[in-house]
Amino acid sequence: MNILFTASECYPFAKVGGLADVVYALSKSLAKLGHNVKVVIPRYYIIDRSTLEHVPGVLIANIGGKDYYAGVFKSHLPNSDVEIYFIDYELFFGRKSIYTDENGKGYVDNGKRFTFFSIASLMLTKIINFNPDIIHANDWHTASQCALIKTRFRDDFKDTRCVLTIHNLQHQGMFDKSLMELLGIGWEHFNSFEFEALGCVNLLKGGIKFADAVTTVSPKYAKEIQTLEFGFGLHEHIRAYAYKLYGILNGVDYEVWNPKIDKYIAKNYDLDDLSGKKECKGNLQGVFGLEIRDDIPIIGFIGRFVKQKGTELIATVIYRLLDLPLQMVFLGSGEKWTEELFSKVNSTHQNLKVFIGYNDELAHKIEAGSDLFLMPSLFEPCGLNQIYSLRYGTLPIVRAVGGLDDTVENFDPYTKSGWGFKFYDATPEALFNTVKWALETWLYDKEAIEVMIKRAMSKTFNWNESAKQYEKVYECAFR
Ligand code: ADP
Repeated sequence: MNILFTASECYPFAKVGGLADVVYALSKSLAKLGHNVKVVIPRYYIIDRSTLEHVPGVLIANIGGKDYYAGVFKSHLPNSDVEIYFIDYELFFGRKSIYTDENGKGYVDNGKRFTFFSIASLMLTKIINFNPDIIHANDWHTASQCALIKTRFRDDFKDTRCVLTIHNLQHQGMFDKSLMELLGIGWEHFNSFEFEALGCVNLLKGGIKFADAVTTVSPKYAKEIQTLEFGFGLHEHIRAYAYKLYGILNGVDYEVWNPKIDKYIAKNYDLDDLSGKKECKGNLQGVFGLEIRDDIPIIGFIGRFVKQKGTELIATVIYRLLDLPLQMVFLGSGEKWTEELFSKVNSTHQNLKVFIGYNDELAHKIEAGSDLFLMPSLFEPCGLNQIYSLRYGTLPIVRAVGGLDDTVENFDPYTKSGWGFKFYDATPEALFNTVKWALETWLYDKEAIEVMIKRAMSKTFNWNESAKQYEKVYECAFR
C-alpha cells in the first residue's frame, strides 16, 4: 500500500512526546513489511533547512479562500528509506516551540496553523506524485483530513481511506467556529454529530466521525475512552463509532532502548548478565549527586510534569515518600508549580534529585540505574517509559490505566507472578501504599524481585507485531 503519515511530530526531527516516537517507528516498521510509506510534518524553526533537500516547485494550499504558498523539503528517517517531507511556511511554523508560546499557552492560531498543515499535506501528494491508499492522520492536528478527503477534496482522493490514531484524547483541537471557513468543508458539517462541540469546532470529533478507522495506542485505552471518566466529553460520540475503533499497543525501538547496546549508560548489561546494572545505579547516583549506596532502591520518574502523569498525587505524598529508605530521581518539565515544588524539595531533601528539562541521555541513565520506575498516571493512552523500564529490569509502579494496565502485570506475593506493582484508585494514599509495598518487597523479598526483573526483561513489545495489526486495520478501512 501507499501510506502517507501526517503528523505534527516525528522523531528525531521534532519531538514533544510519544507521538513522535510512534510516527517514526511505525512508519519504518510498515516500510519493512513492504509498504511504500512517506511521512509529512511541518518544517519547524528547530529543523535546520540546510540539512534537508529542497523539493522543487511551490505548494499552494487554499484556506479560507486565500492561497498560501509554501515550500517543501525532504529527508529520510534515520537508517531507512522512508522519506519524510517538511511543509515550510515561516509565518506558521518558524517559531521556537511547536505548540506553545513562552508562557506555555497554546498559540492562539493553532487551529489555523494545523488546518493549513492538514490541507497543505494533502496538496503535497500532488507535487510529489504520490497516490496514497491510506492517509494515516494523528491526533487533532491532522484529524480534519478524514473529513477533507470525503468532502472538499473528494474527487482527488476517491480511492484513499483515512485512518486516525488518537494518541491522547485530552487534546481535541477546540477552536472558534470560524475555523469552519478555513476548513472549507461547508457549514452543514458544523453540527453536534460532526465538528460542533460546545459551540466550537472540535477537530478530533469531526475526524472520528469521518475516519474509515480509528485507533488508540493501547487496547485498554480504546475501551476507556468510551466511558465518562476517560472520554473528555467525547465518550458518547466515540461509543457511536466503536465498530471502527481498534486498540493497538505501541512497540518499542529496541535499537534505541536496550541496555545491551545503550551508548548512554555506564555499563551495558542484559538478561544473561545483570552485573552492569549495579554499575549503572552507582553512575546514576554519581551523576545526580545522590549518596552512593546499594542497600536502598532508586525510584525513577521521567515525563511531562502535568496532571495527567500523576504529578499531583506524587506532590501530595512527596514528603512521606522521602521519609522512607529510598532515593528518587525525577526528570521532566511542565507546569510551573510542579517544577517549583520538586525543585524546592530537591534542595531540602538529600534523597530526591530533580532535573528540570528534556534530556535524552539522562532518560537512558535513569532507566538503567533505577530499581523501580514510577508512573502514577491519571490516564495513559499507552505510555512508553514503563515499557522501556521492563527491558532495563527496572520494575514499574503504575496506576492500572490504559497502556500501563496492558503492559504491566501486578506482582502476586503468593504465586510470585507478575513484573510490576499496580494500584487502582487515583489517590495519593493508594500511590503511597503501593510504593511502600514495592519498597518492602525490594528490601525483604530479594528472590521475588530477581525473578520479576528477569521476567520483565524478557518481555518484548515489538513494532513489527504492532505494524501487522495496523495492516489489518488498513484493510478494514476499505470494507
Ligand atoms: P507522553 O507521550 O504522554 O509524553 P510517553 O510515555 O508515551 O508520554 O512518551 C514520552 C516520551 O518522551 C518517552 O520517550 C520519554 O522517554 C520521553 N521524555 C519525556 N520527558 C522527557 C524528558 N524530560 N527528558 C527526556 N525524555 C523525555
